[in-house]
Amino acid sequence: MIAAPTLVVHNIGALVTCDPTHGEPGIVSDAMLVASGSEIIYAGRGRGAGFSSPSADVVDIDAKGAAVIPGFVDAHTHIAWLGDRSAEYAARAAGATYEEIARDGGGIRRTVQSTAAGTVEEVSAAVAARARRMLEHGTTTVEVKSGYGLELGAEMRQLDAALAVAVGDDMPDVVTTYLPLHSLPEGDREEFLAEVCGPGVREAAARARFCDVFCEEGAFTVEECRRVLVAAQRAGLAAKVHAEQRTNSGGARLAAALGAVSADHLEHADADDLRALADAGVTGVLLPGAALVLGGPPPPGRRLLAAGATVAVATDCNPGTCFSESMPLMVSLAVATAGLTPAQALVAATSGGAAALRLADRGMLRAGLRCDAVILQTNQWIDVAYHLGANLAATVIRAGRVVATGGGVPSR
Ligand SMILES: [Zn+2]
Repeated sequence: MIAAPTLVVHNIGALVTCDPTHGEPGIVSDAMLVASGSEIIYAGRGRGAGFSSPSADVVDIDAKGAAVIPGFVDAHTHIAWLGDRSAEYAARAAGATYEEIARDGGGIRRTVQSTAAGTVEEVSAAVAARARRMLEHGTTTVEVKSGYGLELGAEMRQLDAALAVAVGDDMPDVVTTYLPLHSLPEGDREEFLAEVCGPGVREAAARARFCDVFCEEGAFTVEECRRVLVAAQRAGLAAKVHAEQRTNSGGARLAAALGAVSADHLEHADADDLRALADAGVTGVLLPGAALVLGGPPPPGRRLLAAGATVAVATDCNPGTCFSESMPLMVSLAVATAGLTPAQALVAATSGGAAALRLADRGMLRAGLRCDAVILQTNQWIDVAYHLGANLAATVIRAGRVVATGGGVPSR
């Protein structure tokens, strides 16, 4: 017997499933979406027959012909920070480089100081404000990295602050990542690495699903990153790599060799790097907002797809290089700068994001998966990409419940 429906969205003009069995992006017209509890029990053609239950227990939504898409899965963010770096933003606009700012004591180190000065509650409130803004743009799952603690206790407090948000009913799902190799703290390099590889990964394993490293000239070497990720994998954390962002440094090959879940940025990756990622089943995460702000080559979206890799698009929301909570903007930028079609970009922002977090239960609208969906303010799903900078989320559904309703006006 089919489970009793608790949510029915009917009169959907275009149900964009992002399910490849329906093509790309998997559009079903004149459709409905039905959930029981947190799970989708029907996603397909229909006008309500068989599910029209006038029970007070059922939330019934008339989509009035609008398009419905899966909730966005933002697989790469650094939203657990305190402090203000707007002056750096202005300095960069006036000609200072990322590297010059870092040498002057700005960059990641500045955020580390201001974040360390706050309590877990203060950091958690900052995460919650940004996560809520993400939810209002249609993001139903967000990955949050540490990396502004550097010192072990401060890193764990950052993860605790993110996890405190994860229990909120009006928040996206939060998935945490331990990012110990972000910037080198004061003190001895070898002692720091030994601590990360011992108590660091052990304590993080109780708080996070992934371990990430910043493999880059001026940050950490391939060998340092390998050492930390191998220790992390032994402790039960899956690997992620910030790779080939500013230079070609070997991070993508490392991600492939270790069977990492994702390699992120990749602007300086070459053809062999991308093929290695595809062959190893590593998802390539495009961060077109950061690429745009920093300048340099565009993210290799089309090249990754041509190599046969799974592609995700994420915000990289952070105080230095991309202060944006908006996944729709990243979808637009992936089309404009990374060579993806609108359909490819939408799939990358939903099912691609789920792949980058190894979450098999979401990212598409299909019976048996979690009911994470966004009813748009338009019957044209392509407006998510085409309508640059707009927030078109009318109703956001997370785990079968309405968690945000936008005001706003129709897209066109
Ligand atoms: Zn990042």
